[in-house]
Amino acid sequence: MKGDRAGPRSRRGLLRDAALLALGAGIGTAGVGELADLTGRRLVLRGGAAAATSAGPHGVRGRGELVMTWEVKTELPLVALTFDDGPRPQWTTRVLDVLDEFAVPATFFVVGRRLRKYASVIDGRLDRHEIGNHTWNHLDLARRNDVQSRDDLARAHEAIVDIVGVPPVLFRPPYGHIGGAAAQAAAELGYQVILWSRKMCEARYTTREQVAAVLRQTTPGAIWLAHDTGAKDRLVSIRGLPAMITGLRERGFEFVTVSHLMAKAELAV
Ligand SMILES: [Zn+2]
Repeated sequence: MKGDRAGPRSRRGLLRDAALLALGAGIGTAGVGELADLTGRRLVLRGGAAAATSAGPHGVRGRGELVMTWEVKTELPLVALTFDDGPRPQWTTRVLDVLDEFAVPATFFVVGRRLRKYASVIDGRLDRHEIGNHTWNHLDLARRNDVQSRDDLARAHEAIVDIVGVPPVLFRPPYGHIGGAAAQAAAELGYQVILWSRKMCEARYTTREQVAAVLRQTTPGAIWLAHDTGAKDRLVSIRGLPAMITGLRERGFEFVTVSHLMAKAELAV
């Protein structure tokens, strides 16, 4: 391992952090008033009167509920790779090339502004993949008010509909930060929040170590966080993708998009 930092964080730690994050959203501002129930790897936040009754341009899901998922409970050997922050010419094409070569579906949480600018990078290459909303400009939603949060989500949503042609249903907040205002906006726009249960740690590992960590840490229903843009460190993971894919398949894992992961797991219950 590079450096002297501790090894991968425990699953319990990740779950605890995700729960605290959501609690922060629930206790925060803008009408997200009731923390409903913590079941398995999902957290359901229920909105207050405003969230329950107001209609957004993309409809209202349920009664103002916001479901947050970081892992899917299943016995099936399914795993979802997710890539954040693109598209950019930088690494996105490399990731798509590997996924094409191995016919692996993945989920890309795109930044709306980058999607508008670099639409040609992904043009015609998303058939097997799912696109989620990672906001318009990757700002910290915990610091944005209700109007700003709604705009951050809605502008990215519109870009995805225009360019990809499929309305996104999954939303991942930048940095995993979500405040009450953003939670309400996401609920009103009909999104599910998707976090992650495993994270690639490029600054800590060599490619060989990152591959080993993926093979060691992947459990049924895992959602892996990686990035298809950013610092050169990202190449640690991207160079390891073929070995990760081959190794997980040898262990019986099947790759699915996040929506397919949730759908298949629920069918299997
Ligand atoms: Zn991000």
